[in-house]
Amino acid sequence: MRGGFPIDICQPGHYKTLLTIERESSSGSFAVGGTIKLITNIESMQEEANRLLEAGKTIVLVPTMGFLHEGHLALMREGRKHGDVLTISIFVNPTQFGQNEDFNTYPRDLKRDMNLAESVGVDIVFAPTAEAMYEKGYQTYVNLEVLPRYLCGISRPGHFRGVATVVTKLFNIVKPRVAIFGEKDYQQLVIIRRMVKDLNFDIRIIGVPTVREADGLATSSRNTYLSQEERDSALCLYQSLQLAAEKIARGTRNADELIDAASRLIRSHPDTRIDYVAFCDPETLENVERIDRPTLMALAVWVGKTRLIDNAVLKP
Ligand code: AMP
Repeated sequence: MRGGFPIDICQPGHYKTLLTIERESSSGSFAVGGTIKLITNIESMQEEANRLLEAGKTIVLVPTMGFLHEGHLALMREGRKHGDVLTISIFVNPTQFGQNEDFNTYPRDLKRDMNLAESVGVDIVFAPTAEAMYEKGYQTYVNLEVLPRYLCGISRPGHFRGVATVVTKLFNIVKPRVAIFGEKDYQQLVIIRRMVKDLNFDIRIIGVPTVREADGLATSSRNTYLSQEERDSALCLYQSLQLAAEKIARGTRNADELIDAASRLIRSHPDTRIDYVAFCDPETLENVERIDRPTLMALAVWVGKTRLIDNAVLKP
């Protein structure tokens, strides 16, 4: 027996009338590849996951904050290959935003996201509310000791505590066997891999290379904040990676020299302010002074009021 009922979602408000999700009968089997399901309730998601696991299905999770773009879709296409039921989460996680960051203005459009997700074969969209994820009295967090001390962790204290916490919660709610993350957020990927190892999550983590616009700018939900002039300036991140790669290919090995050259390039673009340009070990994220093995170049740059990040592993 299947009966449609309106979804119980409040944000954005109008969405309630636009979508229905299909209620499964308790004994019914789950039709993979059918209509995309939206689940907003944590317990419903857990029950759904339990049903799927009992039926022998492999669940794949792609965690996102929504406002989907080609980068997210690449993760979903990859995810489709690794299991029976492709679930994405859409949750703008308040605990990973600092006081003066863009939590309130972060772009949100669930209807658009549902259509995009459906177009790449997503089966379930899990979109909980912040109130349900962090109910009154909430006080448990996941903290890594060392990896968050580098790169973005310096200017965004508490960010990775929020990320590790929400990913742990999503793992416990969605119960995936495989989870997909982007190399665009390289430090996040390293942190998740470490956390999965340290806490013995029985989940395979797969990283997907960064998806870029035709001119090289990494796709990002935050690119929507950029004016045309800022969009032009934003290219300095990709250009810096290219410049460093070229210099390394021509024999430069000194990281400071590369940082200087990249910093000059970035400053030549209007409205830019460097947060960091760094060369580090791709696994430990410790600073590297000489590029004599594959090295992560990572950078964060403010373009106007928007903070953008990018990275590449460069090989001598
Ligand atoms: P977000 O919605 O920004 O939290 O990102 C959700 C997931 O998509 C994370 O694993 C990101 O690393 C990944 N992602 C975001 N942008 C890109 C991109 N341009 N290429 C590949 N993955 C991306």
